[in-house]
Formats: sequence, C-alpha cells, structure tokens
Amino acid sequence: MANELGWVPADVATPLRVERSWVERARSFADREIAPRAEAMDRDDALPTELLHSLADSQLLGISVPAEFGGGSAGSATLAAVLEEISRASAAVAVLLAVHLSVCAAPITEWGTPEQKERCLRPLAAGHWIGAFGLTEPSAGSDAKGLTTRYSSSAEGFTITGSKTFITNGGLADLLLLFATRDPQLESRGITAFLLPKGTPGFSVTSRFNKLGLRGSETTELSLIDVRLPPAARLGPEGSGLHVALSALTGGRIGIAACALGVAQASFESLRHSASRSPSDLSRAQVARAYTDVAAARALLRDTAERRDRGERVEQEASAAKLFCSQVAVRVAAEALDRAGRDGEDARTAGRLLRDARVFPIVEGTTEIQELILGRSLIGR
Ligand SMILES: Cc1cc2nc3c(=O)[nH]c(=O)nc-3n(C[C@H](O)[C@H](O)[C@H](O)COP(=O)(O)OP(=O)(O)OC[C@H]3O[C@@H](n4cnc5c(N)ncnc54)[C@H](O)[C@@H]3O)c2cc1C
Repeated sequence: MANELGWVPADVATPLRVERSWVERARSFADREIAPRAEAMDRDDALPTELLHSLADSQLLGISVPAEFGGGSAGSATLAAVLEEISRASAAVAVLLAVHLSVCAAPITEWGTPEQKERCLRPLAAGHWIGAFGLTEPSAGSDAKGLTTRYSSSAEGFTITGSKTFITNGGLADLLLLFATRDPQLESRGITAFLLPKGTPGFSVTSRFNKLGLRGSETTELSLIDVRLPPAARLGPEGSGLHVALSALTGGRIGIAACALGVAQASFESLRHSASRSPSDLSRAQVARAYTDVAAARALLRDTAERRDRGERVEQEASAAKLFCSQVAVRVAAEALDRAGRDGEDARTAGRLLRDARVFPIVEGTTEIQELILGRSLIGR
C-alpha cells in the first residue's frame, strides 16, 4: 500500500524474514506510548518510569532473546524493523532497547554458560532487568584495546578497578557487560568480559552527561573501585573479551543503523509535511532526495540483517549499513530543519531529530572507524 508519493511504509514492504506481528506491535506501541512523550523526554532529559514499565509489558525488551529464556527469538531483520519503528517516535527509547538487546543480551546468548543464560537472559527478556555495555573509557574509545580498567584474579574470583565513560543505560541498568584488562601491556590478549550486577559494592555511577541530543537516554560515567566478582561472572574465556565485544558490535551496528533509519524516516515525514505546505520545484527536489536516501538506507540495512539471519558473516555489511544510515539520518534531519524554518512545531520536531541524528555517526564505532574497517576489508591493510 503505497502513499501518494509512492512511499512504502516499513511494515508493508517487509520481506518474509521480518515477523510482521512484531513490527505492528512496535509501531502501535510507539504511536500510543512513546510519540506523545517524545518532546517532553527531550525537554526534561528524562525517561518516564511508566514508559519503562509499559515497555517491559510490551515484551519488546525480550524480542530477540531465545524463546527458551522467555524471549521472542526474533532475528536481526525483525529486530531492525522494530528498532526503526521505535526510533521513528523516539531515538532515546530505541537506543535503550538496542543496547539492552544487541550488546548485552545477544553476547550473553552467544558466549554465556547455561547457568549465566538462565540467570541473566530471563530477567532481561522479561524487562525485569535493563542491560548495558561497558567498553569505552576516558582514554579508550575508538581504540578499544587500550583499556586501562584492570582486573586481577584469585581462587575467589576477580577484583576490578577503573572507570568507564559514555555508558548508555548506565544508571538504569541492572546488569552491565563490562570489559577489563589483566594488563594493558597485553593489549587485546589481556581483555576479558564480565557480568556485573547493579549494587555490587565498589561499583557506582559518578555522573550523567547533559547531552545535545538523545535526551532521555542516560549516558553515564561509571567508577569501579575494588569491585569483587565471583568466577561465574566471567563471560567467555579469559583473554577473549575483545572478541566478545567485537562480535557484539556487529549486531550492535545493525541496531544503531536501524535507530538512525527511524530518525531518517521521521525526518523525511517532517520534511514532506513542511514542503507540502509551500510546494515549489526546490522543495520537491529536496523531498525526492530524502526519499531516495531513506529508501537506499533501508534496503542496505535489510539486506545486511537478512544475510545475518541466513547465518552469513556480515561485519563488512554492518559497518556499511551503520555508516550510511547514520549519514542519511543527519542529512535528512538537516534538510527537514531547513525546510521547517521558523515554524513552531515543525521546527521543534526537526530540531530534535537533527540533535538525535548527530549521535549515530559516533556510537558503536565512529564514521572514520567504519571507513577503516570497510577499507581494510575491501583492499587489505
Ligand atoms: C550518546 C553516546 C552513547 C554511548 N554509549 C556507549 C555505551 O553504551 N557503551 C560504550 O562502551 N560506549 C558508548 N559510547 C562511546 C562511543 O562508542 C565512543 O564515543 C566512540 O567509540 C568514539 O570514542 P571516543 O569518544 O573516545 O572518540 P575517539 O576514539 O577519541 O575519537 C575522536 C575522533 O577521532 C577519530 N579517530 C579515532 N581514531 C581514528 C583512526 N584510527 N583513524 C581515523 N580517525 C580516528 C574518531 O572518528 C573521532 O572523530 C557512547 C557514546 C555516545 C556519544
């Protein structure tokens, strides 16, 4: 069912691999529960508690967790379509969901022992727990192997000291997937992943960033001082932490690309709304460019997610999708703001979309890092 511009809404164009019922559920949840609160979340930089409760009730917090642990077992293509719908209403809520599922629950599914899966995936899937991913440090962002948060091990388990920054869901999360090194000199070989529950003595949130965009999504600094964890807290073999992180980031980049696409779609709708009130050849061309950009971004993302669902390796494609979708989000949101001009509500919405879009070229690997990954994979080092 195409509209007058031939624009095909995401859920109508879904291929077989996408479970339409989840996408429809996400769209109606976004329209009913999120969209009416999006402006207030942006203004107050706060996520309403009742929205978090209804998100848990919606079962969306477990959509891609295996059914045996209470989740929906949805694949990458379905998750991407769901994140796009949520992000069309609020990028802040979509990023909460993307981090919780793609870089917390997914690596536990991939690397966890049966006991860890039982202990962590059930509450994550039910929305009783929120998940976070703690890799970035004040002096280790793009170069993740430069971590300085250190752990030592003994028969009782592990002791961890250090700090993390820019951690999404940091204060909200009940479970942090944490990365630390045995010795920074060992670089990637020294890094191990840990499952760190909220409330563990020595672990605290030291500050929360007051951001330009993605307001309502918590981004925090974390402190770890002599944090003690039992042996069962280690996720994956010792020394394999960077591998855990990088494998999580492939799915993570598909998730962030989907969030960016939702902002791009909302920006396209805002642009078309403003342009249709003062049609001119210039505004028609602007809408046509945005339409083409969003359609191309969606096709690239879908292809990537569907390949992943078929079991293909998609590191290269995930980087390309994240790179392109985030650029499209910024470009289309900027066009929407230009076209909205001085108009009150349109300008407010487009302004929020542009501020939200700006985060996507940064998170889960900046644009320059995606270009490096892709370039190396295409023509070698
Ligand atoms: C809102 C938000 C949420 C986030 N959430 C999380 C989270 O939940 N968990 C988490 O672990 N991290 C999170 N991050 C951190 C994010 O992944 C990092 O900000 C990102 O990886 C970049 O690291 P950096 O900020 O240290 O920048 P740097 O690595 O210092 O990079 C600075 C600039 O230099 C460029 N650059 C760096 N190295 C190279 C190179 N080799 N070649 C070319 N250019 C280069 C970068 O592209 C960038 O433009 C979040 C960040 C933001 C802003």
